[in-house]
Amino acid sequence: MAPEFEIAVVGAGIVGLATAHALQDNGEAVCVYERGVPGNAQSGGESRIFRHIHADPRLIALARRARDVWREWESRFGCELLSHDGVVAIGAAVEPRLTLLEADGEVVARRLDPDELAARLPVLSRWEGPAMLDEAGGAIRTRAAIGALSRALSGRLLFDEVLSVRTTPAGTVEVRSAAGTREFARVLVCAGRGTAALARGAGLSLPLRHAAHVRLTYPVRAAPAARLACLLDGSGEFGEAGAYADPLPGNAAYAVGVGEVTAGEDGSVADADGLHAVAERTTAYVRRALPGLEPNPSEARHCWVTELPWSPDGFALWRRDAVLVFAGNHLFKHAPALGRMLAAAAREDDVPASLRPEAQLGAPGRGWLYAPTAAASGSSPREVT
Ligand SMILES: Cc1cc2nc3c(=O)[nH]c(=O)nc-3n(C[C@H](O)[C@H](O)[C@H](O)COP(=O)(O)OP(=O)(O)OC[C@H]3O[C@@H](n4cnc5c(N)ncnc54)[C@H](O)[C@@H]3O)c2cc1C
Repeated sequence: MAPEFEIAVVGAGIVGLATAHALQDNGEAVCVYERGVPGNAQSGGESRIFRHIHADPRLIALARRARDVWREWESRFGCELLSHDGVVAIGAAVEPRLTLLEADGEVVARRLDPDELAARLPVLSRWEGPAMLDEAGGAIRTRAAIGALSRALSGRLLFDEVLSVRTTPAGTVEVRSAAGTREFARVLVCAGRGTAALARGAGLSLPLRHAAHVRLTYPVRAAPAARLACLLDGSGEFGEAGAYADPLPGNAAYAVGVGEVTAGEDGSVADADGLHAVAERTTAYVRRALPGLEPNPSEARHCWVTELPWSPDGFALWRRDAVLVFAGNHLFKHAPALGRMLAAAAREDDVPASLRPEAQLGAPGRGWLYAPTAAASGSSPREVT
């Protein structure tokens, strides 16, 4: 008898769900292992920023492809998944990032004068420095996306924790989970915080850095604006080298992040006080930069960041026999396009050159915040979204 499932995906975050959905669309017998609640780990919370603004032109092109699939999913699932409110960036990286977007030629982006900036982002302090608008960027409705994909994959989600993944002498892949052992033709591991450990068991050592991130949500003081852009602040003017903020559905609340605390090899957050300090810094930043918000957080979200050494925006796909392992950071926006690429890689048992670690996707000029001169001098700020 043929096995029930040919391909297994480990992890029902946005990447695993998008990949399994693409595989299902292609008629593959795919299942998804999830040890917790789908979309509740790195993909958790109400919103993420969708931006075309990247330092690596390859990621600008990937974001465009992803945007098309986000819109396609909206028609298919019958709900809004990506707002039309744009992304505002301020700071020294604005000019180099605009240059790259202009070179791409297919992304609508432009400079903003201080009055336009205030109209797009009325919650922000007056800012007279460099500012730009990524017109077709916006806030991703994360819960709606996770919910729609999970429903589309019903019957294929296995609520079970994977302990190990290894290739058998027959060339299949054995997955040992809490509920038992199964074999598959191919397995894709995209388990976020759990990826490095499972990869190690499969014989792959990933250069992932782990950190814990704090993201706080603040009520908007005024009546919700019809349009409210996301914010990328690399200005350093408001006491943080790098900050991001994005509106929650309804625009009555804004989520803000300014930093993270590095975790140890064993997954420990040795500096637990550091998380408290990051939360305090976030509220201090809100007082300075975002006077349109009440500086009392209404919600806190803590989650893991998994980052590759070449860029805060970096990601890659590793392969060992029939085991594929995907890892990186800032994946939510790209997930619809990535899901299709990863599905093709799992079907064809091949890693496209663009996703191989040596391609260092995300690397040129490093993250969106980094102005080239700052990166060269080594004085670049930390990237937070
Ligand atoms: C606060 C914050 C803000 C961010 N902002 C942005 C942004 O603005 N824009 C953007 O594009 N990206 C952003 N990111 C990054 C983005 O959210 C993540 O890159 C993305 O959600 C990762 O998705 P994933 O599917 O790879 O991982 P996850 O969502 O972590 O999914 C992995 C899943 O695997 C499961 N799992 C792990 N181990 C096992 C196991 N052994 N067995 C079974 N299941 C297992 C987990 O339970 C989890 O559900 C942000 C991240 C954070 C934390």
